[in-house]
Amino acid sequence: MRLGLVIDLDTCVGCHACATACKEWNTSSPVSGPLSDYEPFGADPSGVWFNRVRHYELAGYPASKPMNFPMSCMHCEDADCVTVCPTGASYKRDDGIVLVDQDKCMGCNLCAWACPYGARELDTASGTMKKCTLCVDRINDMLLPPEERQPACVLVCPTHARFFGDFDDPASEVSRLTAERGGFGLMPELGYAPVNQYLPPREPKTVWRPTAPSSPAVSAACARCIKHVLG
Ligand code: SF4
Ligand code: SF4
Repeated sequence: MRLGLVIDLDTCVGCHACATACKEWNTSSPVSGPLSDYEPFGADPSGVWFNRVRHYELAGYPASKPMNFPMSCMHCEDADCVTVCPTGASYKRDDGIVLVDQDKCMGCNLCAWACPYGARELDTASGTMKKCTLCVDRINDMLLPPEERQPACVLVCPTHARFFGDFDDPASEVSRLTAERGGFGLMPELGYAPVNQYLPPREPKTVWRPTAPSSPAVSAACARCIKHVLG
């Protein structure tokens, strides 16, 4: 089993709903919560987040295009964050989820340096490392209806830009979408084999624009209408 996320960069609107739903769920989770906030009402608030949405501008004006890029732990197959951990706190489960045992973590920060995706954040209040758990306490909770056994970020996304599933199952939605849409893992050249996949933005469709009337048969009203559309 290889559980992970697919994130559609074509439909993500950068609303941060995934990041805030993640924080809300996981701050009260016994797995690795709370997610501490530092001076939340001060001039320079900060805190621990599992999921952060970055914003980029592709190309320059007038061809510029916004790109919203949610990032969290990729649950890499070859995760150096696990191998460098001196206490065994970082580990990878049989279902592929990478977790941090809060009772074993001593906050040395080695795993955060080993992670090329910036997916780990040291909680200075607890003195331990925090990272995405794929909402392991939701997806395995048999008391929840099956449709709710998904990470909080997937459930909340208003544009359905996020998908969760098993990449080892070729019939799963995440495998199908990755194959159909040319999904890619981030920075594969580093050799971490990230499980999470991104779907690239689609090319914009050509917009149909009406042409000016050339035939006298076109009514004056219609001509006025087309002129209005063409500006
Ligand atoms: Fe993008 Fe969905 Fe996250 Fe909003 S909730 S930032 S649309 S992935
Ligand atoms: Fe480890 Fe970083 Fe890969 Fe997550 S993204 S498994 S923290 S190396």
